[in-house]
Amino acid sequence: MISQGPASVDVVVIGAGPVGLACALEARRRGLSVCVVDKGALVNSLVGYPTNMEFFSTPELLEIGGYPFPTAHYKPLREDALDYYRRVAVAEQLTLRLYERVLRLEGQPGAYAVVTEKGRLATRYVIIATGFFDVPNRLDVPGADLPHVSYYYKEPYAHVGQSVVVIGAKNSAAKAALQLVRAGAQVTLVVRGSAVSDSVKYWIRPDLLNRIAEGRIRAYYQTTVHHIGPDSVGLLTPEGPVELLAHYVYALTGYRPDYSLLANLGITFQDDAARTPTHNPDTFETNQPGVYLAGTVCGGLNTSRWFIENGRHHAAVIAAQLAVPATIE
Ligand SMILES: Cc1cc2nc3c(=O)[nH]c(=O)nc-3n(C[C@H](O)[C@H](O)[C@H](O)COP(=O)(O)OP(=O)(O)OC[C@H]3O[C@@H](n4cnc5c(N)ncnc54)[C@H](O)[C@@H]3O)c2cc1C
Repeated sequence: MISQGPASVDVVVIGAGPVGLACALEARRRGLSVCVVDKGALVNSLVGYPTNMEFFSTPELLEIGGYPFPTAHYKPLREDALDYYRRVAVAEQLTLRLYERVLRLEGQPGAYAVVTEKGRLATRYVIIATGFFDVPNRLDVPGADLPHVSYYYKEPYAHVGQSVVVIGAKNSAAKAALQLVRAGAQVTLVVRGSAVSDSVKYWIRPDLLNRIAEGRIRAYYQTTVHHIGPDSVGLLTPEGPVELLAHYVYALTGYRPDYSLLANLGITFQDDAARTPTHNPDTFETNQPGVYLAGTVCGGLNTSRWFIENGRHHAAVIAAQLAVPATIE
């Protein structure tokens, strides 16, 4: 499964996430040779998700290539999904180049070269399925890059008895705050708006609000972070500045597509609020002929527009447009 593959293929898929894998399967089924390149592990984003995260979607909505996703749980766990996508990639004997970062695109339509940190891959078509999970929306305050500030949350166990500040008001921040307080951390939630987001799932939001109401989680609303020190966080609250003890800070303030990579691949951007990477919404072809976007990356800064459930369907739409190489009789 993991191999260099040939130096020339019909289709290069950039990104071995669920949607990139779906694209590879569909293109293969049309008789095209495909190589999937990822800068990290297979389904690298899922590898980086919270250790015991539970998907919001039921398993059939995460399936790709028609492979059933049997799970013991109504909502699959991260480990179930890691195992499922690995099994699909193995079953299909996909050619994967993992831990190989794509740098840029050279050449012209019909004769592109995908340049990676390890070499070049000649190809007719490129499908960009690079998601959004690699570039966090960093805090623009002093101390934002200190070692005890993290933009990714895995699990609570390192924080027993510690004061932890969680910044954010959406699902990731809500789940982290709840797990942390249940694992014995003193948790403060810092929310820029006037309430926990309405987009927090209906079974998580009341749990969080009840923990705040009973005082187990302290919450500051309409509050921004002013600075982060080695063991404190300075807040600007409606009542004035507040200095909090903080052994650890989780800034769960979202992520954005890698715009510098997209520019290096020749993709332009729309002048809209989501800074949408240019593509035809019906075909997913970009401003570069034969270069397609698929999955979450299509939404630009609107990272909740496309997810696995709906993004996986881009694969069939794109594959149907790829010209199958002529066979020699
Ligand atoms: C906590 C959490 C829970 C979620 N739950 C659900 C859910 O229940 N249902 C649902 O449908 N969605 C869910 N999502 C969203 C979903 O996981 C993403 O939308 C999904 O991963 C998108 O798939 P993708 O293939 O487009 O991108 P990704 O899975 O992000 O894959 C992109 C890949 O591109 C690679 N890449 C990036 N840059 C380069 C480069 N320069 N060179 C090579 N490779 C590169 C990355 O390493 C990565 O493997 C959840 C997300 C989070 C964070």
